[in-house]
Amino acid sequence: MEDVLDLFEDVAADSLGYARRWKEETGGRVIGVLPMHFPAELAHAAGALPVILQEDEEPITIGHKSVFNFYCGFNRSLIDQALRGKFSGLDAIMFGDHCVQLLGTADVIRANIPGLPILFNQLCSIIDAEWALAETERTFQQLWKELETLIGRKIDEADVRASIRLFNRDRGLMRRLYDLRRNGQIALSARQMQAVVKSSMVMDKAQHCALLERFLTQKRSEPSAVRSVRVFLSGHLCHAPKLDILDLIETCGGRVVDDDLYHGFRFIFADIDEQAPPVRALADWYLSRNRKVPCPTRAVKGADWEQYLLKAVADCRADGLIVLMAKFCEPHMFFYPEIKEAFERRGVPHLLVETEHEGVALEALKTRLETFMEITRRAVAA
Ligand code: SF4
Repeated sequence: MEDVLDLFEDVAADSLGYARRWKEETGGRVIGVLPMHFPAELAHAAGALPVILQEDEEPITIGHKSVFNFYCGFNRSLIDQALRGKFSGLDAIMFGDHCVQLLGTADVIRANIPGLPILFNQLCSIIDAEWALAETERTFQQLWKELETLIGRKIDEADVRASIRLFNRDRGLMRRLYDLRRNGQIALSARQMQAVVKSSMVMDKAQHCALLERFLTQKRSEPSAVRSVRVFLSGHLCHAPKLDILDLIETCGGRVVDDDLYHGFRFIFADIDEQAPPVRALADWYLSRNRKVPCPTRAVKGADWEQYLLKAVADCRADGLIVLMAKFCEPHMFFYPEIKEAFERRGVPHLLVETEHEGVALEALKTRLETFMEITRRAVAA
């Protein structure tokens, strides 16, 4: 069981290294995909390895000259990686515009790597508008055509259907792990769960599925003797929370039982209809997302993130909520006051932790987390 997790952790730690090795072995194309709403299934059906681009661990150096300091760490890291030549193994990037900062990032990458095709497509952000379905279908048809131009041949509908089935299988396996973790039937740390999901954003899907199936067969039930504080983790859009923060939450007495992180449940919660025509199925998948797990970069009437979070925290029997917010993430900053107010009104313990690409002061965070765990323990006992 550990060897599978070790492999997931290695891939998660060096996604571009995995992509480079895959390319050397197969001779195939690698397509970078921007989070959070683009269907990598289409790039897979084109015979490529879709790789969701990740923030890396390097400090921002030459990227400083091309990006504002008040861009989130993910955008600054993407630009820095582009300027350091880290994207030289990519054959294209599928770019979306789910926040305004990404528009600037796309322009900087275009200007600095002119030979790298940027497949830029705008997905509508008001996803319950009357015109949203037709517009989303048009966007995905356009992306389909752009991928065909890139690879120089048609992409068969049958291949898209096969990719949808494979991706659904992988998501379903990860959701089983989530169920096991919620019910205390498997002891997976937040670090390990992140490795499972993050590696699926990068790895050859069939390989990831095979490893996950092996992992699920071998899994052991490891109930903890210590009563930890059950924590729901929320937020951190687009890029993975730093592992030292996840570790600290657990060493301070928390046990993460569920989340809505992009490098977590947000990435796997929805499957794509395998029977409907593929473009329609992809559009339905995209347009129904906010009704299941609301995203602050999309708007839909009657789907409030704070109401979703209150229910999700209750459903998984979490004792409290920790919100991880990347510094300068505007969509998240706009929504957070509603979440805070709703949790205060309901009396559910919650804590906001702001994160930065450059890291956070762990000693100060440790004190805040220990205090939060103590308050939450007392609230549960009251
Ligand atoms: S949504 Fe937030 S984390 Fe994602 S790119 Fe925009 S500012 Fe950065």
